[in-house]
Amino acid sequence: MHLHDLTIKKFHDGLLKKEFSALEMTQSFFDWIEKRDKEVGAYLSLNKDLAVRQAEETDLKIAKNMPVSMMAGVPMAIKDNLLIEGLPATAASKILKDYTASYDATVIKKLKSAGAVFLGKTNMDEFAMGSSTENSAFQKTKNPHDLTRVPGGSSGGSAAAVASHMAVAALGSDTGGSIRQPAAFCGVVGLKPTYGAVSRFGVIAMASSLDQIGPFTKTVEDSAILFKEILGQDGLDSTSVNADYGEELLNPKLENIKKLKVGIPEEYFVEGLDKEVAEKVDEAIKAIQSLGLEIKKISLPNTKYALSCYYIIMPAEVSSNLERFDGIRYGTRQKAENLLELYKKNREAGFGAESKRRILLGTFVLSSGYYDAYYAKAQKVRRLIKEDFDRAFKDVDVILTPVTPTLPFKIGEKTSDPLSMYLSDIFTIPVNLAGLPAVSIPIKSNVKGPAEGEARQGRQMSKDLPVGFQLIGKPWREADILGIGQYYEKLSR
Ligand code: GLN
Repeated sequence: MHLHDLTIKKFHDGLLKKEFSALEMTQSFFDWIEKRDKEVGAYLSLNKDLAVRQAEETDLKIAKNMPVSMMAGVPMAIKDNLLIEGLPATAASKILKDYTASYDATVIKKLKSAGAVFLGKTNMDEFAMGSSTENSAFQKTKNPHDLTRVPGGSSGGSAAAVASHMAVAALGSDTGGSIRQPAAFCGVVGLKPTYGAVSRFGVIAMASSLDQIGPFTKTVEDSAILFKEILGQDGLDSTSVNADYGEELLNPKLENIKKLKVGIPEEYFVEGLDKEVAEKVDEAIKAIQSLGLEIKKISLPNTKYALSCYYIIMPAEVSSNLERFDGIRYGTRQKAENLLELYKKNREAGFGAESKRRILLGTFVLSSGYYDAYYAKAQKVRRLIKEDFDRAFKDVDVILTPVTPTLPFKIGEKTSDPLSMYLSDIFTIPVNLAGLPAVSIPIKSNVKGPAEGEARQGRQMSKDLPVGFQLIGKPWREADILGIGQYYEKLSR
């Protein structure tokens, strides 16, 4: 089977039918990575020894006719802010350049016992702060659909790895859009689970009240499979919850899906939304309508405050979480006369510009005299945003929006203008503030799309660039958004 055609589902079927072994596949992936990653730059480090051992374990089980899980032998890419014992975990920062993880994140432990194969660690914006992966201290990752463009961020390496078939699936983290936005830019499926659905133990924290780990996959069906494997309460993360996800997550019934009401928030279809993105999202809405779901206009009036609110709460938490990095052990140790000077010099050399910007901003909004004016007020606004969703969900079951206001932008286009970079996440940030689940799904052009030609004439090169749509669900209702997604996917096959 060709690597390009592989999904988790097909991999599992092929493995059981003995069409290939896990080891053969692992080797094919490393061969392909060797060629393709020279151009794409998705991986920061590869993990051949462990991957081969993991694949062999699965092959042994298959040979002995022992039962294996859906993830057994599946070649995966892991974002570099997730800890795998014995492997580097740099979070793409110089300050962690020589750090090797001494334990497994809970999601990694779960996937290891399911038999997944970890091919390597993927590039990201430093400490997950950014929307293009250009804030990595080590390398730039290119969008596999157009190498002059960004893959999105911060989990750009994971998205690009799956999109260019250098992994069957990947894990990323999403604090304000870092799974969904790169998924949309790279044309893959990205799920940000409900806050608390997946343990955060072993992720290098960015903003702890917003961070969630989630899957990148080629299909929505795969997203459900991988999500099911990593979810669950964990004694090592007190914010994780024991939620009951039944059979419907993997086997949604069309008769139930059809009954769901879909809200379209007017605040997400405003000026600044690229015409091409708007047109594509419209196609997705029509396709979902054609499945029999009712579509309804709704309003989320506080959406306009989400970005400002996020850019107070997030840096406040970043400044606290990044306090622990003194640069003494893992990379950028400088020469200094005394301890304070050592800290200062190490942090000066170890952090990139965006990290410094956010540490400063966060320290400022938490400082005495400004705390109430900024941080406390932002918390109140966060509540208003959450209440917007609560109200809307009395009326509809899911909410459909664009993922990003624009198509993937050019490398370097926004690096000198942080504000325009921050705007990339305008449609994804409210979801994190409200703790909701949301999935980014690529819009397939063959789904009842407008005729090629006239609509696109004169628009430069954008024809083949991916566009995604976002489905936002009620808390713990990943089954709704993934269910709709799975039937949408069947339409477009
Ligand atoms: N791009 C957003 C930011 O820069 C979101 C990042 C994320 O989700 N980790 O903060």
